Amino acid sequence: MLLLAVPSQFYKEWLRAHHFGLIEQAAREVAGRQVGVRLKVEAPDHASENDAAEGHAPETSASERERETVQRVRRAPQRQSMPPAPNTRAAGKHPGFQHGERVGDSALNDQYTFGCFIRGDCNELAYSAAVAISESPLSSTYNPFLIYGGVGLGKTHLVQAIGNAVKGEDGTRRVYYTSSENFTSQFVRAIQRNEISAFSDFYRHIDVLIVDDVQFFGGKEKTQEEFFHVFNALHQRGGQLVLSADRAPKEIDGIEERLLSRFRWGLTADVQPPDLETRTAILQHKAEVSDVEVPHEVISFIAQRVTSNIRSLEGALNRLLAYGRLNKVTLSVEMARVVLRDIIDDTPSRIEVSDIQEAIAEHFDLDVHLLSDKTRKRYVAEARQLAMYFSKRFTDHTLKEIGLRFGGRDPSTVIHACQRIEDLMETGAAFLAQVEEARQMVRLKA
Ligand code: ADP
Ligand code: MG
Repeated sequence: MLLLAVPSQFYKEWLRAHHFGLIEQAAREVAGRQVGVRLKVEAPDHASENDAAEGHAPETSASERERETVQRVRRAPQRQSMPPAPNTRAAGKHPGFQHGERVGDSALNDQYTFGCFIRGDCNELAYSAAVAISESPLSSTYNPFLIYGGVGLGKTHLVQAIGNAVKGEDGTRRVYYTSSENFTSQFVRAIQRNEISAFSDFYRHIDVLIVDDVQFFGGKEKTQEEFFHVFNALHQRGGQLVLSADRAPKEIDGIEERLLSRFRWGLTADVQPPDLETRTAILQHKAEVSDVEVPHEVISFIAQRVTSNIRSLEGALNRLLAYGRLNKVTLSVEMARVVLRDIIDDTPSRIEVSDIQEAIAEHFDLDVHLLSDKTRKRYVAEARQLAMYFSKRFTDHTLKEIGLRFGGRDPSTVIHACQRIEDLMETGAAFLAQVEEARQMVRLKA
């Protein structure tokens, strides 16, 4: 993370409004990767130098001031071991909950910012609401704010982005990120150690409480009850609650109605799997901030094939980037096919009978036309049967359609081919290995 010290709140807001994107970009270029940027108000060393700035922030002196500010930059540790819920009452009174191992793993990850979150139709409402909340966290009308959706779709990223944005604003707000599991284990430990009042007090005095994956509260009655009270106390004080779940609240088993009804007080927004455009944009963004050149065809190759969620999308790109870096080679679609073969969707509908025929012909080292030919030579017949078998397994075509594509053969021939291959697979490991090898070829072609 890059921590920029600025002399006043005014500087901070002004920099944020006018130059934040540029600073983020510069930091990224220098570091060669995405770097979270935080602005922090720090009393100036020479007050007189900065006093004048308070009154006017004209465009003219902008760059000068920015330079001054940047000179005061210092690199913060990679990942802050966060003293959760900084400063003030709760933390002061109960240092155990501030620094102890009990909350040690609940730090916000400063990589999760709005700046590196790509919006699309799939996350529009969740994103807009998250931004709105981060802008006025203590007077938002979306309280609680609950984001739900499947794994790897950006829920944790978004809720943490709220936390990072609010925390970054002036550092005086008590922002605390935790998962429902962490909350649960803290609670259980607090009971065991007879520290319930410290626990409750800590949670009740947070300004923005973020609880990830609340579905894990399901079935935990005592924890839910405690959370219910925390919720009420915080809400009453005007504190913001930000929650996430892997499904719609009403579908979570074992959550008490009274807690569910609290969840409904505010705004619930879902995140959906990303469409092709969003997938492409995410990959493009991630490729840009990397040190490896990723050709556009490679991006669209991945975007078309890795469709389930954003985590897999990232995983695929990262693997390819690592491969490119280690081998110092230019990335290509051919390489992506090989490097990503086990994560790329093995989706039957995308493979065509002709792809299979080509792969098999290559594997058996024969002319692809022979597969549709009348020849009954044993070697060719076997290859043809295997190709038919794969066509049945990997495509949506009917037996009739498959027969037609193999020189107008009868559907019964296709059935016979499939049966024979299956029988052969049962009889010998050698044949199985051959099928497996051929299957790999087919997949590579697809
Ligand atoms: P979830 O909590 O829904 O399981 P995460 O927030 O952990 O998902 O997201 C998985 C990964 O995908 C993270 O690395 C996150 O940064 C990334 N990601 C998710 N959505 C987006 C997005 N819209 N733009 C950029 N990166 C995203
Ligand atoms: Mg998550």
